[in-house]
Amino acid sequence: PIDPNFQANRVATTFENLKVWKNKISNLGIYGTNVAVDFDLCVGDGACIEVCPTNVFDWQGVGADRKALPSRERDCIYCFGCEAVCPKFAIRVSKP
Ligand code: SF4
Repeated sequence: PIDPNFQANRVATTFENLKVWKNKISNLGIYGTNVAVDFDLCVGDGACIEVCPTNVFDWQGVGADRKALPSRERDCIYCFGCEAVCPKFAIRVSKP
């Protein structure tokens, strides 16, 4: 599962309007902050994209390598639906 303390344990870079949180063992990193998706865990099944009532996510990439990018994390209403449906526990939602 995603590290709930990733903000303390990782260093932030940026990708478009999002922060990307990396450490020495991360390959892709965690995308987003209040809606954070661990791209090293995401299997791209799209459950979060389907469940989100405010359309926070976009697909990043194509085919088997696609990931759920929380492009509009500011639109999150904290229903925690995405956390609940993720089969890899790759998403951490926390109010800013
Ligand atoms: Fe969307 Fe709810 Fe997840 Fe926020 S917590 S990103 S509103 S599914």
